[in-house]
Amino acid sequence: MHNFEFIRPQNAAAAITAAAQAKAAPAETRFIAGGTTLIDLMKLEVETPERLVDVNRLPFDKIEDLPDGGLKIGATVRNSDLANHSQVKRDYSVLSQAILSGASGQIRNMATTAGNLLQRTRCMYFRDTAMPCNKREPGTGCPAITGANRTLAILGTSDHCIATNPSDMCVAMAALEAVIHVEGTKGARTIAIRDFHLLPGSTPHRETVLEPGDLITYVTLPPPRTGSRQVYLKLRDRASYEFALASAAVVMTIAGGAVSYVRIALGGVGTKPWRSLEAEAALAGKPANAANFRLAAEAGLRNAKPQSENKFKIELAKRCLTHALKTAAQG
Ligand SMILES: Cc1cc2nc3c(=O)[nH]c(=O)nc-3n(C[C@H](O)[C@H](O)[C@H](O)COP(=O)(O)OP(=O)(O)OC[C@H]3O[C@@H](n4cnc5c(N)ncnc54)[C@H](O)[C@@H]3O)c2cc1C
Ligand code: SF4
Repeated sequence: MHNFEFIRPQNAAAAITAAAQAKAAPAETRFIAGGTTLIDLMKLEVETPERLVDVNRLPFDKIEDLPDGGLKIGATVRNSDLANHSQVKRDYSVLSQAILSGASGQIRNMATTAGNLLQRTRCMYFRDTAMPCNKREPGTGCPAITGANRTLAILGTSDHCIATNPSDMCVAMAALEAVIHVEGTKGARTIAIRDFHLLPGSTPHRETVLEPGDLITYVTLPPPRTGSRQVYLKLRDRASYEFALASAAVVMTIAGGAVSYVRIALGGVGTKPWRSLEAEAALAGKPANAANFRLAAEAGLRNAKPQSENKFKIELAKRCLTHALKTAAQG
């Protein structure tokens, strides 16, 4: 691994200052939290920051109630602590289910809320510096489009990149309509999770709306939906320690046999955590039955664009969402 400077600030302002000094060359400074994404990529020389700014001593390791009934989750809260928090298990169980379906116990003990939001694609070409890749080195090309793309995206792709966003946590947060709180050199701001990750377009190296020096401080969840049924279903090549081929997060309420509220997000199929407004619109107000669940899934995948090896994901994702909705309806 290359040489780098390691800085351990005690407060957010010092962390932002240390990171913002990289403004002219953003790739040269990175915040580091659990390190389960970043250190991996540094060992592979995919990321070669000259300065690491450690966020682990910043006071963002708490989960707190908000006055409006919502929840505030600090940026350095470990994924294990979040998934096993009693209120999260009770009121936001889709989030708990999603986190526990990912990685391994050891990795979840290290991984943080902010780090998970910013984890990078598992596309094999991105992780191999011997190969071209528009995301890693803009303008070099995308070998996945004509190469190994079985696990890659079918929604939100472009001619420049078809990489899947690998996070489970983010899919649940998309269905819960989380808000990300950021502090940067220009002050504090909030970003709805729907607007946080970017589509690849012609700039796949830009994955989020964050600017150099922006520090994620916490994430908030709106007050829980009373009586909501919540399901995260993840389909993958093996039962554990594997990323999703397709996943679905569902938050739904049913009144008088009809769907009175529904939020749907898909994982494993999109270039970003994929909130499906199409599936939601197809289901809202309709009788909560298997036929309508399937119609919602059809609507959610209508714009899917498969590559040579991943056409199977269209039907897989439809079945995944249909089953998640059925499971949620059964309560
Ligand atoms: C073998 C393996 C299997 C895995 N399986 C799954 C899986 O099935 N599902 C899944 O969802 N995930 C999986 N993961 C990914 C794992 O969830 C992520 O690596 C983890 O969430 C990243 O969190 P971290 O704190 O370790 O991030 P780090 O590696 O510390 O950081 C990741 C990125 O976030 C940035 N960052 C960190 N904190 C902040 C902050 N406060 N503000 C701004 N930027 C920040 C860093 O600069 C870096 O760019 C797996 C990982 C491994 C290694
Ligand atoms: S899909 Fe994206 S990450 Fe993968 S090789 Fe193409 S440009 Fe790189």
